[in-house]
Amino acid sequence: VIDVRGIVRNFKLGQEVVKVLKGIDLEIKRGDYVALMGPSGSGKSTLMNLLGCLDTPTAGSYKLNGTDVSSLSDDQLADIRNTEIGFVFQTFNLLPRTTALDNVALPMVYAGKSKKERNARATEVLESVGLGDRMDHQPNQLSGGQRQRVAVGRALVNNPSIILADEPTGNLDSKTGVEIMALFDKIHADGNTVILVTHEEEIAEHAHRVIRLRDGVIETDIRNKEWKD
Ligand code: ATP
Ligand code: MG
Repeated sequence: VIDVRGIVRNFKLGQEVVKVLKGIDLEIKRGDYVALMGPSGSGKSTLMNLLGCLDTPTAGSYKLNGTDVSSLSDDQLADIRNTEIGFVFQTFNLLPRTTALDNVALPMVYAGKSKKERNARATEVLESVGLGDRMDHQPNQLSGGQRQRVAVGRALVNNPSIILADEPTGNLDSKTGVEIMALFDKIHADGNTVILVTHEEEIAEHAHRVIRLRDGVIETDIRNKEWKD
């Protein structure tokens, strides 16, 4: 489902060129559950942003479900971001002064769904993430864990095939983090591809495959023993 070949990502910083990803080859199959680890600055978020079509590589190819992403227009990319990919951020990135229901429904506005359809689906998704009784709350009226549940709901609402999460438990206490991981376990059990970044080994143990980046290259890519294809 994800096929990355020779991905390089450089950033210009004044006169200097910063080489962040130095040639990444990566295949991730439908239904994989992947933890991406590695030291701070090794390029994890840079890679996730590329996988999520939030950014484009300096060189190399990225095929998503057979489509060469680098050949697409900005509109087509926006469409893929909205329908094929669900992205969860460490800092939730919810709209303030907007209810949980409307935050979750937002990707469906871009997808052109009717208000009735949006409300029905957003309600269903909020119930599935355990927030059926918080639909009219705004982000500042929710706990961190509840905010992240809203963000997970928003990521799921258009039924994407891939869920990407960059340190989704990074701003949560460990008990709340475990609850959010139960949600990702369920999303994976439902047949979705899940890729998440974490610094914590206990979180990575939820995944079936652990990829470690170091200094812009893949250092190791290991399947957890219990996982059978
Ligand atoms: P962390 O664990 O701290 O989140 P990370 O592995 O996610 O780290 P990245 O955010 O991918 O690391 O950053 C990798 C390197 O790329 C860093 O040295 C960073 O300074 C550099 N970098 C990232 N984005 C840019 C940018 N837009 N311009 C210049 N340099 C950048
Ligand atoms: Mg990062």
